[in-house]
Amino acid sequence: MSCPVCGATGASPLFRLDRVPALCNSLFDSAGDAGEVPLVDIDLVACPSCGLIWNRLFEATGIDYGADYGNPLECSAIFREHRDRLVERLARELALEGKTVLEVGCGDGAFLRALCRATGADGVGVDPSCVPQVENRGPGTIRLIRGEYPLRSESIAADLICCRHVLEHMPNPREFLETLENDLAPHGRILIEVPNAEHMLEVCSIGDVIHEHCLYFARFPLAALFESRGYRVELSEGFGRQFLVLAAERIRSREEARSAAPTPELIEATSSFGARAKERLRGWRQRVADANRAGQHLAVWGIGSKGVTFLNLVNDGGRIAEAVDINPDKEGRFVPGTGHEVRSPRWLREHPVDTVLVMNQRYVGEVEAELRSLGVSCAVDGVLG
Ligand SMILES: [Zn+2]
Repeated sequence: MSCPVCGATGASPLFRLDRVPALCNSLFDSAGDAGEVPLVDIDLVACPSCGLIWNRLFEATGIDYGADYGNPLECSAIFREHRDRLVERLARELALEGKTVLEVGCGDGAFLRALCRATGADGVGVDPSCVPQVENRGPGTIRLIRGEYPLRSESIAADLICCRHVLEHMPNPREFLETLENDLAPHGRILIEVPNAEHMLEVCSIGDVIHEHCLYFARFPLAALFESRGYRVELSEGFGRQFLVLAAERIRSREEARSAAPTPELIEATSSFGARAKERLRGWRQRVADANRAGQHLAVWGIGSKGVTFLNLVNDGGRIAEAVDINPDKEGRFVPGTGHEVRSPRWLREHPVDTVLVMNQRYVGEVEAELRSLGVSCAVDGVLG
Protein backbone atom coordinates (compact mmCIF):
# COMPACT_ATOMS: atom_id res chain seq x y z
CA MET A 1 0.00 0.00 0.00
CA SER A 2 1.39 3.40 -0.96
CA CYS A 3 1.93 6.29 1.47
CA PRO A 4 -1.30 8.29 2.01
CA VAL A 5 0.70 11.55 1.93
CA CYS A 6 3.47 11.22 -0.68
CA GLY A 7 2.49 8.05 -2.54
CA ALA A 8 5.83 6.29 -2.03
CA THR A 9 5.77 2.51 -1.81
CA GLY A 10 7.88 0.13 0.26
CA ALA A 11 6.67 1.05 3.76
CA SER A 12 8.59 -0.68 6.51
CA PRO A 13 6.97 -2.41 9.52
CA LEU A 14 7.24 -0.51 12.79
CA PHE A 15 5.09 -1.85 15.62
CA ARG A 16 2.10 -4.10 16.15
CA LEU A 17 -0.56 -4.14 18.86
CA ASP A 18 -3.05 -6.98 19.04
CA ARG A 19 -6.62 -6.87 20.27
CA VAL A 20 -7.16 -3.28 21.37
CA PRO A 21 -10.58 -1.53 21.39
CA ALA A 22 -11.69 -0.22 17.99
CA LEU A 23 -12.78 2.98 19.75
CA CYS A 24 -10.92 4.39 22.77
CA ASN A 25 -12.84 7.59 23.35
CA SER A 26 -16.32 6.16 23.74
CA LEU A 27 -17.37 5.14 27.24
CA PHE A 28 -20.31 2.81 27.81
CA ASP A 29 -23.38 2.71 30.05
CA SER A 30 -22.74 -0.81 31.37
CA ALA A 31 -19.78 -3.09 31.97
CA GLY A 32 -21.47 -5.63 29.69
CA ASP A 33 -21.66 -3.27 26.73
CA ALA A 34 -18.11 -2.06 27.39
CA GLY A 35 -16.83 -5.64 27.36
CA GLU A 36 -18.40 -6.29 23.97
CA VAL A 37 -16.59 -3.52 22.12
CA PRO A 38 -14.90 -4.92 19.00
CA LEU A 39 -11.19 -5.57 19.45
CA VAL A 40 -8.87 -4.92 16.52
CA ASP A 41 -5.20 -5.27 15.63
CA ILE A 42 -2.99 -2.32 14.76
CA ASP A 43 0.02 -2.66 12.47
CA LEU A 44 2.03 0.53 12.13
CA VAL A 45 4.28 1.03 9.10
CA ALA A 46 6.52 3.96 8.13
CA CYS A 47 6.97 5.62 4.74
CA PRO A 48 10.58 5.41 3.54
CA SER A 49 10.26 8.75 1.79
CA CYS A 50 8.32 11.27 3.94
CA GLY A 51 8.33 9.41 7.25
CA LEU A 52 4.54 9.29 7.69
CA ILE A 53 3.49 6.48 10.00
CA TRP A 54 0.15 4.79 9.44
CA ASN A 55 -1.86 1.77 10.52
CA ARG A 56 -2.06 -0.48 7.50
CA LEU A 57 -4.90 -2.49 9.08
CA PHE A 58 -7.11 0.56 9.72
CA GLU A 59 -10.75 0.13 8.84
CA ALA A 60 -13.22 2.93 9.26
CA THR A 61 -16.15 0.53 9.60
CA GLY A 62 -17.33 0.31 13.19
CA ILE A 63 -16.04 3.79 14.03
CA ASP A 64 -18.84 6.09 15.09
CA TYR A 65 -17.93 9.62 16.11
CA GLY A 66 -21.52 10.29 17.18
CA ALA A 67 -22.98 11.50 20.46
CA ASP A 68 -20.99 9.09 22.62
CA TYR A 69 -17.64 9.96 21.13
CA GLY A 70 -15.38 12.62 22.44
CA ASN A 71 -12.51 13.36 24.71
CA PRO A 72 -12.89 16.93 25.91
CA LEU A 73 -9.74 17.79 27.82
CA GLU A 74 -11.04 21.13 29.02
CA CYS A 75 -11.38 19.88 32.61
CA SER A 76 -7.63 20.18 32.97
CA ALA A 77 -6.20 23.61 33.75
CA ILE A 78 -2.98 22.94 31.85
CA PHE A 79 -4.92 21.86 28.79
CA ARG A 80 -7.01 25.04 28.95
CA GLU A 81 -3.78 27.00 29.16
CA HIS A 82 -2.59 25.37 25.94
CA ARG A 83 -5.88 26.26 24.23
CA ASP A 84 -5.74 29.85 25.49
CA ARG A 85 -2.19 30.29 24.22
CA LEU A 86 -3.21 29.14 20.78
CA VAL A 87 -6.17 31.53 20.80
CA GLU A 88 -3.91 34.42 21.86
CA ARG A 89 -1.47 33.60 19.10
CA LEU A 90 -4.16 33.51 16.41
CA ALA A 91 -5.67 36.76 17.71
CA ARG A 92 -2.25 38.40 17.56
CA GLU A 93 -1.23 37.13 14.13
CA LEU A 94 -4.49 37.27 12.17
CA ALA A 95 -6.98 40.12 11.83
CA LEU A 96 -10.16 38.10 12.16
CA GLU A 97 -12.73 40.71 13.17
CA GLY A 98 -15.85 40.28 11.04
CA LYS A 99 -14.21 37.31 9.27
CA THR A 100 -15.51 33.74 9.23
CA VAL A 101 -13.84 30.91 11.11
CA LEU A 102 -14.88 27.33 10.40
CA GLU A 103 -13.90 24.65 12.89
CA VAL A 104 -14.16 21.08 11.64
CA GLY A 105 -14.46 18.69 14.58
CA CYS A 106 -15.33 21.44 17.06
CA GLY A 107 -16.38 19.08 19.88
CA ASP A 108 -18.40 21.12 22.37
CA GLY A 109 -17.26 24.37 20.70
CA ALA A 110 -15.03 25.60 23.56
CA PHE A 111 -12.07 26.50 21.34
CA LEU A 112 -14.21 28.15 18.65
CA ARG A 113 -16.06 30.19 21.26
CA ALA A 114 -12.81 31.37 22.85
CA LEU A 115 -11.32 32.26 19.46
CA CYS A 116 -14.38 34.19 18.29
CA ARG A 117 -14.63 36.08 21.59
CA ALA A 118 -10.99 37.07 21.40
CA THR A 119 -11.08 38.18 17.76
CA GLY A 120 -14.64 39.25 16.94
CA ALA A 121 -14.87 36.64 14.21
CA ASP A 122 -18.06 34.76 13.28
CA GLY A 123 -17.68 31.08 14.00
CA VAL A 124 -19.19 27.99 12.41
CA GLY A 125 -18.45 24.67 14.10
CA VAL A 126 -19.23 21.23 12.71
CA ASP A 127 -19.09 18.03 14.74
CA PRO A 128 -21.16 14.84 14.80
CA SER A 129 -21.17 14.96 18.62
CA CYS A 130 -21.96 18.63 19.32
CA VAL A 131 -25.20 20.15 20.59
CA PRO A 132 -26.55 22.35 17.76
CA GLN A 133 -26.89 25.99 18.78
CA VAL A 134 -26.63 29.61 17.68
CA GLU A 135 -25.13 32.24 19.98
CA ASN A 136 -25.34 35.96 19.35
CA ARG A 137 -23.86 37.29 22.56
CA GLY A 138 -20.50 38.73 21.62
CA PRO A 139 -19.34 40.79 18.66
CA GLY A 140 -19.51 37.68 16.45
CA THR A 141 -22.08 34.92 16.12
CA ILE A 142 -21.30 31.28 16.82
CA ARG A 143 -23.19 28.52 15.09
CA LEU A 144 -22.62 24.88 16.01
CA ILE A 145 -23.91 22.34 13.49
CA ARG A 146 -24.28 18.70 14.43
CA GLY A 147 -23.36 16.52 11.51
CA GLU A 148 -20.73 14.94 9.38
CA TYR A 149 -18.25 17.09 7.52
CA PRO A 150 -18.46 18.15 4.68
CA LEU A 151 -21.86 19.73 5.07
CA ARG A 152 -24.22 18.89 2.26
CA SER A 153 -26.52 21.83 2.93
CA GLU A 154 -24.12 24.75 2.46
CA SER A 155 -20.58 25.73 1.65
CA ILE A 156 -18.69 28.26 3.73
CA ALA A 157 -16.08 30.70 2.44
CA ALA A 158 -14.00 30.59 5.60
CA ASP A 159 -11.10 32.96 6.15
CA LEU A 160 -9.68 30.49 8.64
CA ILE A 161 -10.38 26.78 8.94
CA CYS A 162 -9.33 25.17 12.23
CA CYS A 163 -9.05 21.45 12.47
CA ARG A 164 -7.68 20.16 15.73
CA HIS A 165 -7.11 16.47 16.36
CA VAL A 166 -9.02 15.45 13.26
CA LEU A 167 -6.49 14.93 10.45
CA GLU A 168 -4.92 11.91 12.16
CA HIS A 169 -8.32 10.17 11.88
CA MET A 170 -8.47 10.55 8.10
CA PRO A 171 -7.25 7.56 6.05
CA ASN A 172 -7.02 9.75 2.95
CA PRO A 173 -5.55 13.09 4.06
CA ARG A 174 -5.06 14.46 0.53
CA GLU A 175 -8.73 13.99 -0.24
CA PHE A 176 -9.64 15.54 3.13
CA LEU A 177 -7.54 18.62 2.36
CA GLU A 178 -9.27 19.02 -1.01
CA THR A 179 -12.60 18.88 0.82
CA LEU A 180 -11.50 21.61 3.24
CA GLU A 181 -10.50 23.76 0.27
CA ASN A 182 -14.12 23.79 -0.93
CA ASP A 183 -14.96 25.79 2.21
CA LEU A 184 -11.88 28.05 2.14
CA ALA A 185 -11.93 31.67 0.91
CA PRO A 186 -9.32 32.45 -1.82
CA HIS A 187 -6.73 33.80 0.62
CA GLY A 188 -7.86 31.74 3.54
CA ARG A 189 -5.68 29.98 6.04
CA ILE A 190 -5.82 26.58 7.63
CA LEU A 191 -4.76 25.69 11.16
CA ILE A 192 -4.13 22.04 11.93
CA GLU A 193 -3.28 20.46 15.27
CA VAL A 194 -2.33 16.80 15.52
CA PRO A 195 -0.52 14.62 18.05
CA ASN A 196 3.23 14.94 17.45
CA ALA A 197 4.60 11.62 16.21
CA GLU A 198 8.14 12.82 16.94
CA HIS A 199 7.29 13.04 20.62
CA MET A 200 5.60 9.63 20.51
CA LEU A 201 8.68 8.07 18.92
CA GLU A 202 11.17 9.77 21.21
CA VAL A 203 9.49 8.96 24.52
CA CYS A 204 8.08 5.69 23.19
CA SER A 205 4.47 6.56 23.94
CA ILE A 206 2.48 3.38 23.29
CA GLY A 207 -0.66 5.03 24.67
CA ASP A 208 -0.70 7.26 21.60
CA VAL A 209 -1.13 4.23 19.36
CA ILE A 210 -4.90 3.91 19.07
CA HIS A 211 -7.13 2.53 16.38
CA GLU A 212 -8.96 5.82 15.72
CA HIS A 213 -5.64 7.36 14.72
CA CYS A 214 -4.82 5.89 11.36
CA LEU A 215 -2.04 8.46 10.71
CA TYR A 216 0.88 9.65 12.86
CA PHE A 217 2.48 12.90 11.68
CA ALA A 218 5.98 14.16 12.27
CA ARG A 219 6.81 17.65 10.96
CA PHE A 220 8.02 16.60 7.53
CA PRO A 221 5.02 14.62 6.24
CA LEU A 222 2.59 17.19 7.69
CA ALA A 223 4.38 20.03 5.89
CA ALA A 224 4.72 17.98 2.70
CA LEU A 225 0.97 17.34 2.56
CA PHE A 226 0.24 21.07 2.48
CA GLU A 227 3.24 22.30 0.51
CA SER A 228 2.46 19.89 -2.31
CA ARG A 229 -0.90 21.65 -2.71
CA GLY A 230 0.49 25.17 -2.81
CA TYR A 231 0.56 26.30 0.81
CA ARG A 232 3.24 28.12 2.73
CA VAL A 233 3.43 26.48 6.13
CA GLU A 234 4.66 27.31 9.57
CA LEU A 235 5.10 24.55 12.13
CA SER A 236 5.31 24.71 15.88
CA GLU A 237 5.06 22.35 18.82
CA GLY A 238 2.78 22.76 21.81
CA PHE A 239 1.66 21.14 25.03
CA GLY A 240 5.13 20.02 26.01
CA ARG A 241 5.93 18.86 22.46
CA GLN A 242 2.96 16.48 22.50
CA PHE A 243 1.10 18.40 19.77
CA LEU A 244 2.16 19.68 16.39
CA VAL A 245 0.53 22.86 15.08
CA LEU A 246 0.62 23.77 11.40
CA ALA A 247 -0.50 27.16 10.09
CA ALA A 248 -0.93 27.08 6.32
CA GLU A 249 -1.44 30.00 3.98
CA ARG A 250 -2.43 29.45 0.39
CA ILE A 251 -0.02 30.91 -2.13
CA ARG A 252 -0.27 30.82 -5.88
CA SER A 253 2.30 28.34 -7.03
CA ARG A 254 2.80 24.90 -5.68
CA GLU A 255 6.05 24.57 -3.85
CA GLU A 256 8.12 21.52 -3.37
CA ALA A 257 8.25 20.44 0.25
CA ARG A 258 10.94 22.65 1.67
CA SER A 259 10.72 21.89 5.34
CA ALA A 260 13.77 20.32 6.92
CA ALA A 261 13.99 16.63 6.19
CA PRO A 262 13.77 14.17 9.08
CA THR A 263 16.84 14.39 11.32
CA PRO A 264 19.11 11.36 11.89
CA GLU A 265 17.78 11.29 15.49
CA LEU A 266 14.21 11.01 14.24
CA ILE A 267 15.12 8.29 11.76
CA GLU A 268 16.81 6.38 14.57
CA ALA A 269 13.85 6.94 16.92
CA THR A 270 11.54 5.61 14.20
CA SER A 271 13.52 2.48 13.45
CA SER A 272 13.99 1.57 17.11
CA PHE A 273 10.40 2.36 18.16
CA GLY A 274 9.05 -1.19 17.75
CA ALA A 275 11.71 -2.79 19.96
CA ARG A 276 11.45 -0.07 22.63
CA ALA A 277 7.66 -0.20 22.63
CA LYS A 278 7.67 -3.99 23.11
CA GLU A 279 10.08 -3.64 26.01
CA ARG A 280 7.95 -0.92 27.61
CA LEU A 281 4.83 -3.03 27.27
CA ARG A 282 6.61 -5.92 28.96
CA GLY A 283 7.69 -3.56 31.76
CA TRP A 284 4.13 -2.31 32.31
CA ARG A 285 2.73 -5.83 32.52
CA GLN A 286 5.48 -6.91 34.89
CA ARG A 287 4.87 -3.91 37.11
CA VAL A 288 1.14 -4.56 37.40
CA ALA A 289 1.70 -8.27 38.02
CA ASP A 290 4.29 -7.48 40.75
CA ALA A 291 1.92 -5.02 42.43
CA ASN A 292 -0.89 -7.59 42.33
CA ARG A 293 1.36 -10.23 43.89
CA ALA A 294 2.37 -7.80 46.65
CA GLY A 295 -1.32 -7.10 47.37
CA GLN A 296 -1.04 -3.47 46.28
CA HIS A 297 -3.87 -1.60 44.64
CA LEU A 298 -3.28 0.56 41.59
CA ALA A 299 -5.45 3.24 40.03
CA VAL A 300 -5.16 4.62 36.52
CA TRP A 301 -5.80 8.39 36.39
CA GLY A 302 -6.92 9.81 33.05
CA ILE A 303 -9.46 7.77 31.09
CA GLY A 304 -8.70 9.15 27.66
CA SER A 305 -7.05 7.21 24.89
CA LYS A 306 -3.83 6.62 26.85
CA GLY A 307 -5.67 5.33 29.93
CA VAL A 308 -8.01 3.10 27.94
CA THR A 309 -5.10 1.68 25.96
CA PHE A 310 -3.04 1.10 29.11
CA LEU A 311 -5.91 -0.66 30.91
CA ASN A 312 -6.47 -2.95 27.93
CA LEU A 313 -2.81 -3.73 27.37
CA VAL A 314 -2.00 -4.67 30.97
CA ASN A 315 -5.30 -6.46 31.49
CA ASP A 316 -3.88 -9.82 30.37
CA GLY A 317 -2.00 -10.83 33.47
CA GLY A 318 -2.73 -8.12 36.00
CA ARG A 319 -5.55 -6.16 37.49
CA ILE A 320 -5.84 -2.41 37.94
CA ALA A 321 -8.22 -1.71 40.85
CA GLU A 322 -9.59 1.69 39.87
CA ALA A 323 -10.04 3.93 36.82
CA VAL A 324 -10.25 7.63 37.73
CA ASP A 325 -10.97 10.78 35.73
CA ILE A 326 -11.68 14.38 36.72
CA ASN A 327 -14.31 14.86 33.99
CA PRO A 328 -17.71 14.50 35.73
CA ASP A 329 -19.30 13.37 32.45
CA LYS A 330 -17.16 10.23 32.53
CA GLU A 331 -18.07 9.25 36.08
CA GLY A 332 -20.19 6.08 36.30
CA ARG A 333 -19.49 5.08 32.71
CA PHE A 334 -17.47 2.05 31.62
CA VAL A 335 -14.14 1.55 29.87
CA PRO A 336 -14.26 -0.19 26.47
CA GLY A 337 -12.67 -3.62 26.61
CA THR A 338 -11.93 -4.00 30.33
CA GLY A 339 -15.27 -2.74 31.67
CA HIS A 340 -13.78 -0.67 34.53
CA GLU A 341 -16.28 1.82 35.97
CA VAL A 342 -14.87 5.35 35.83
CA ARG A 343 -14.70 6.99 39.26
CA SER A 344 -14.26 10.59 40.30
CA PRO A 345 -11.11 11.43 42.30
CA ARG A 346 -13.30 11.66 45.46
CA TRP A 347 -13.86 7.91 45.22
CA LEU A 348 -10.26 7.34 46.33
CA ARG A 349 -11.05 8.79 49.77
CA GLU A 350 -13.22 5.76 50.58
CA HIS A 351 -11.39 3.31 48.34
CA PRO A 352 -7.71 3.92 48.93
CA VAL A 353 -5.06 2.70 46.52
CA ASP A 354 -1.30 2.42 46.98
CA THR A 355 -0.30 4.10 43.72
CA VAL A 356 -2.01 6.34 41.19
CA LEU A 357 -0.59 5.90 37.70
CA VAL A 358 -0.95 9.13 35.75
CA MET A 359 -1.33 8.51 32.05
CA ASN A 360 0.27 11.73 30.90
CA GLN A 361 3.48 12.92 32.48
CA ARG A 362 2.34 16.52 32.07
CA TYR A 363 -0.52 16.08 34.52
CA VAL A 364 1.49 14.67 37.45
CA GLY A 365 1.71 17.99 39.35
CA GLU A 366 -1.97 18.69 38.80
CA VAL A 367 -2.94 15.21 40.04
CA GLU A 368 -0.74 15.47 43.14
CA ALA A 369 -2.36 18.79 44.04
CA GLU A 370 -5.87 17.38 43.51
CA LEU A 371 -5.13 14.36 45.73
CA ARG A 372 -3.67 16.60 48.45
CA SER A 373 -6.76 18.79 48.41
CA LEU A 374 -8.92 15.67 48.83
CA GLY A 375 -6.77 14.43 51.72
CA VAL A 376 -5.81 11.28 49.84
CA SER A 377 -2.31 10.04 50.42
CA CYS A 378 -0.78 7.58 48.01
CA ALA A 379 2.16 7.39 45.63
CA VAL A 380 1.75 9.19 42.30
CA ASP A 381 3.67 7.98 39.33
CA GLY A 382 3.72 9.30 35.80
CA VAL A 383 3.58 6.55 33.20
CA LEU A 384 5.59 7.54 30.17
CA GLY A 385 3.42 6.94 27.17
ZN1 LIG B 1 5.30 9.28 2.41
